[in-house]
Amino acid sequence: MPRFFKEFFSEAPFIDGDDAKHILRSLRMTVGECLTVCDTKGNDYDCVISGCSADRVELQIKEIRKNDTEPTIFVTLYLCLTKGDKMDLAVRQAVEMGASRIIPVISTNCVSRPDEKSLRKKEERWQKIANEAAGQSGRGILPEVCHTVSFDTAVKQSANDDKCVFCYELATEGLDTIGSETKTVSVIIGPEGGFTAREAEALAQSGAVTVSLGKRILRAETAPVAALCTVMLKSGNI
Ligand code: SAH
Repeated sequence: MPRFFKEFFSEAPFIDGDDAKHILRSLRMTVGECLTVCDTKGNDYDCVISGCSADRVELQIKEIRKNDTEPTIFVTLYLCLTKGDKMDLAVRQAVEMGASRIIPVISTNCVSRPDEKSLRKKEERWQKIANEAAGQSGRGILPEVCHTVSFDTAVKQSANDDKCVFCYELATEGLDTIGSETKTVSVIIGPEGGFTAREAEALAQSGAVTVSLGKRILRAETAPVAALCTVMLKSGNI
């Protein structure tokens, strides 16, 4: 069933804007057909279309269900900027794998260094991709893509979570620090060129656990999937 997000959901529910255009023009849905609307707070509303106009779809709620797809662990993914459209793939797959928040990071070896204006545009684009992935994968929230931060800020912020996991190809320990009791975790992934020794040291000093994702070097867009998969497995969410 097609799935949409809307924060409202009250007595006279409706969808307008781009989602309405998508329902009416792309999906060619009409009166009597069913769709699901998630209120982004973990509630799913199964609805039937009761009326359509040019860019507005009127709905009738049939059933309200608690969404049960959200993981028990809140994962913040710190993702260093990568080249070209690799970030798009990383963001999409991270949302599918259950990341709750994504924070782009600029570290020493980031080749991509957009100015403030193009960063804002990119962040908007990544948020759109995250929203699409959330709809497609049946998430109960819209994971936020935050403003890009510096490496130093990422080190400070990530230390606030129950656990901070720093993925480093030179590490020897596996990701054993996460269990079903872990409620919040930061996962840090480097750019194509990896982290410098100084950065690795700074993360270790701040209390991050330096972990290996196996003996093979993963691409920057593959590593988040492997890390999230392991976190979800260890925390009992797979
Ligand atoms: N510096 C390396 C690889 C960078 S891969 C090189 O250029 O050869 C990009 C990022 O993915 C790394 O910074 C790290 O965070 C993560 N990563 C890749 N393979 C990994 C592995 N086997 N274990 C842990 N993290 C890994």
